[in-house]
Amino acid sequence: MNNPNRAHCVAVIGGATAGAEIASRLADRGVSVFVFEQNKRPYGKIEDGLPRWHEALREKEYETIDEKLTRPGVAFVPSTKIGRDVGFKALANEWGFSAVVLANGAWRDRPLPIDGADAYLGKGLVYQNPFVIAFNHAERGDLPNARYEVLPGAVIVGGGLASIDVAKIHTLELTLRELAKRGIESNVVELEVKGIPKILAGHGLTFEQLGIVPPTIYYRRRVEDMPLMSAPEDADAARIAKVEAGRKRMLEKSTEKYCFKVEPLSAPEALIVENGRLVGLRFRRTKMENGRLGMTDETFEARGPVVISSIGSIPEPIEGIAMKGELFDFKDWEIGRLEGYPTVFSVGNVVTGKGNIVASRKHATQVSEAAVEAYLGVGGEDRSAAAEARPGMPEADFTADQVLASLGNAKPPSDEQIAKLRERVAKLQRAAGYDDYKSWKEKVGAPC
Ligand SMILES: Cc1cc2nc3c(=O)[nH]c(=O)nc-3n(C[C@H](O)[C@H](O)[C@H](O)COP(=O)(O)OP(=O)(O)OC[C@H]3O[C@@H](n4cnc5c(N)ncnc54)[C@H](O)[C@@H]3O)c2cc1C
Repeated sequence: MNNPNRAHCVAVIGGATAGAEIASRLADRGVSVFVFEQNKRPYGKIEDGLPRWHEALREKEYETIDEKLTRPGVAFVPSTKIGRDVGFKALANEWGFSAVVLANGAWRDRPLPIDGADAYLGKGLVYQNPFVIAFNHAERGDLPNARYEVLPGAVIVGGGLASIDVAKIHTLELTLRELAKRGIESNVVELEVKGIPKILAGHGLTFEQLGIVPPTIYYRRRVEDMPLMSAPEDADAARIAKVEAGRKRMLEKSTEKYCFKVEPLSAPEALIVENGRLVGLRFRRTKMENGRLGMTDETFEARGPVVISSIGSIPEPIEGIAMKGELFDFKDWEIGRLEGYPTVFSVGNVVTGKGNIVASRKHATQVSEAAVEAYLGVGGEDRSAAAEARPGMPEADFTADQVLASLGNAKPPSDEQIAKLRERVAKLQRAAGYDDYKSWKEKVGAPC
């Protein structure tokens, strides 16, 4: 590619779906890209979020990430956590990078909003992210400290797709246990694909006959409001009604196939603690009126051996990045820019807040085309054309001129800076024991 800005170097923080996408795009345009990943493997929520029964999807996404991180121009730096092993401020301001892209996802659970709840972590309270990570790695046993316990009658606070996965993990595993007691072998993938009632029927059994106490998901709003599918922003009443009916159908299908329960219109309000352990929650019954959530006078208790909070994931704080509440304090939410860091952009879950593979990849492409490539001047013959390519983003906010005016021109590092930067990267790679991507993959093993 005949590009005058070949000398640009970009750091990408996080090597999973969004990070690999933008890294490969920039590398294809002649930029030298350095991908810093905290874990040994770069697959992020594909390996540690998406439950392991999604075998084909996970395999496909692993291959996609591998292919993108092995493009010429991409250097992978594993086992390097920005904020711990390398300071964010230094990376952004001192290393000489033309741009830094945050693609670090959302790895912290949003805290259960009841005062004092976290005192019961491990004593009746469990958060979704460590629970799913442990489930995904359980068969391989490669994370011996990541343990999860599936108990009958779990109280799950949530309402999104991830909370349904948590409920499914419970009923799938409890069913497997009961089948094993009866000398019947099955596995999580078979049960998930065919559904619990169908597999049980094949053995002349019903879920009720197994005597399993299913988990219940307690959700603040109505079933129709569950964020299982989204309506376009400009949706009219008819479209919204269609989406709501779709959500209801989706949930009905899921509860039939996986035998868990859902209790809508329930907001967690207080802890029930006995003998120093969390043994349940008090909920307040809610009501939805004209799309607004309101509280009623009714309360009820839900008791169970464990309370699992699955109410969303938020970014882990990184020293040097200002927070606004639970989120990074972005001054521009479209392309994830931060006050005081003119060369920093953000892509994927960390800025969209959407727990979705396609959304992360699409956002990385959009930010790359419309902002980072325009900023670096590597987007094609014409910088304005790159800036205009912002499908799905509000035009009023981002005309090409505005993007370019606000971004200015990227400054490539000097030869001296490049040499020093490469030296620093090589040192980190050596410290991790990394040589090249292929032999590294053999060394650290295939993902679970
Ligand atoms: C239970 C569950 C089920 C899901 N099911 C689906 C599904 O069915 N379909 C779907 O589309 N999506 C699903 N998702 C969501 C989807 O997997 C994610 O939204 C998507 O993969 C996020 O991609 P990302 O690249 O934005 O972030 P991530 O995958 O989170 O990648 C961020 C990367 O940054 C790294 N990182 C973080 N901090 C640092 C740091 N300080 N320094 C260096 N590296 C760092 C992380 O290790 C990680 O590799 C599910 C998620 C969960 C939890």
